[in-house]
Amino acid sequence: MAIAYDDQNIFAKILRGEIPNNTVLETDHTLAFRDIAPQAPVHVLVIPKGPYVSYDHFAAAASDAEIVDFNRTVAKVCAMLNIALDSGGAGFRAISNSGAHGVQEVPHYHLHILGGTPMGRMVSKSVQA
Ligand code: 5GP
Repeated sequence: MAIAYDDQNIFAKILRGEIPNNTVLETDHTLAFRDIAPQAPVHVLVIPKGPYVSYDHFAAAASDAEIVDFNRTVAKVCAMLNIALDSGGAGFRAISNSGAHGVQEVPHYHLHILGGTPMGRMVSKSVQA
């Protein structure tokens, strides 16, 4: 079953230039920009330019070029913001929320990159596993 993409979501509007953003890095296939409500000193969202709803949708349906470009952009952003281990940074957390149980608010795939401070435990659960 194909996943329906809502082209009125806020990140689609950012990609069309209808809403401004604080861009960190842009490539042919990918845009990285600052989260409007940062949860850490570094909080960047990396999104593909294509119409993908979630991580699994992107991983299954995107082209090899889009997937490679996305991941290389993540690496470049981490290096640019001095959080990449590879360039002496202290690290970061990458999170992708997907769907209702993932508590995804914006239905356009995005990877949160959070860093600049210790991020605490991975998940604060409101339910028991
Ligand atoms: P989600 O819950 O879908 O994983 O995360 C959506 C993220 O998008 C949130 O962290 C929220 O602050 C961010 N966000 C929502 N609207 C905007 C916007 O208009 N501009 C930017 N830069 N970030 C947004």
